[in-house]
Amino acid sequence: DVRFSDGIDFSSLLLSQVVLDGLFASGFQKPSPIQLKAIPLGRCGLDLIVQAKSGTGKTCVFSTIALDSLVMENPAIQVLVLAPTREIAVQIHSVVMAIGSAMEGLQCHVFIGGTSVSQDKISLKKCHIAVGSPGRIKQLIELGHLVTASIRLFVLDEADKLLEEGSFQDQINWIFSSLPVNKQMLALSATYPESLAQHLACYMREPTFVRLNPSDPGLIGLRQYYKLVRSHAVPHMVFEEKVLHLLDLFSKVPFNQALVFSNLHTRAQHLADILSSKGLPAVCISGCLSQDQRMEAMSKLKQYQCRILISTDLTSRGIDAEKVNLVINLDIPQDWETYMHRIGRAGRFGTHGLAVTYCCHGEEENKILAIAQKCNLSLYALPEPIEPGLM
Ligand code: ADP
Ligand code: MG
Repeated sequence: DVRFSDGIDFSSLLLSQVVLDGLFASGFQKPSPIQLKAIPLGRCGLDLIVQAKSGTGKTCVFSTIALDSLVMENPAIQVLVLAPTREIAVQIHSVVMAIGSAMEGLQCHVFIGGTSVSQDKISLKKCHIAVGSPGRIKQLIELGHLVTASIRLFVLDEADKLLEEGSFQDQINWIFSSLPVNKQMLALSATYPESLAQHLACYMREPTFVRLNPSDPGLIGLRQYYKLVRSHAVPHMVFEEKVLHLLDLFSKVPFNQALVFSNLHTRAQHLADILSSKGLPAVCISGCLSQDQRMEAMSKLKQYQCRILISTDLTSRGIDAEKVNLVINLDIPQDWETYMHRIGRAGRFGTHGLAVTYCCHGEEENKILAIAQKCNLSLYALPEPIEPGLM
């Protein structure tokens, strides 16, 4: 079983009773392989670099370590978690609150851009665990609202994204230097580029690598296909051609929920409009929307109020919506890491799913085949005609 290690449940990990109660109450009985490996090491206070494929339960790894070490009587921030998107931060908060549900008085709050700082100030009066995006966290420390003196655990979720060239490096450096010297650090990611090791070396003390055997199946229940479409000189005609194929797929496979990725916000919005006009209500999400609109789109997805979400790479990482079992790449992702993150939105925790990438003959075709080779994927041409049994 890819999901569980036989015979061992969370009570074997010598966690405190309240954390165990919370894990069981939120439906976590047995640790996944990465949880089994990383949680005991994390509880020893070691700095960890945890690398495991999408959907293997990394959030529960750091949430459990964080909650197990919490001193409830101290109302100060003891754990700081950074995430690269606001949506991931919100999701982490709900996992922490679920696993911490038996811890009376637990205070965990989310601090993200696009919301009011005065509300943050109120939340910070009592907060054990702060989860946020780098920009807002830095701002709150600068303003003196977020006091870092009691922070003992610093977590970077999607660490490679957080420390990617040109993203949040400067903010994270700044935040790091404002934290107490004595602290534990955890960095988690599904993909682990060379540059990440160099960055983490500046922060961590002899980190322990926790990774599963690379040959571990990971997204075992996910079938991946690509579909070649005719190329046209005009990009818009390529788009229209792809949309026709997509409509055909939607009409034939019995998916629960689908996530469609486009490289451009304008194209994503346009696709949402087309699908909606064809009787397939679709919601669009991207960084171009207001924070309220983004929250609304995410909650529609998670509460199963929309079946199709069209997105830019804003949601290609971290997002966990358990009913999503179809991922579409309407545009080719920019690199193999993005491909792996996008398709990892389906097939979570060993469930079944389907991923289809649409590409034109020529450049796009070469790109997707190069990605497949790089990731060692068995990527097949989408069978024609499409049968419902494909899912
Ligand atoms: P990752 O961050 O590794 O991509 P997540 O932490 O988002 O993965 O977890 C993926 C899914 O697996 C979530 O829906 C989560 O509830 C579920 N999950 C994680 N650990 C367990 C477990 N031990 N037992 C059952 N479900 C789990
Ligand atoms: Mg994650």
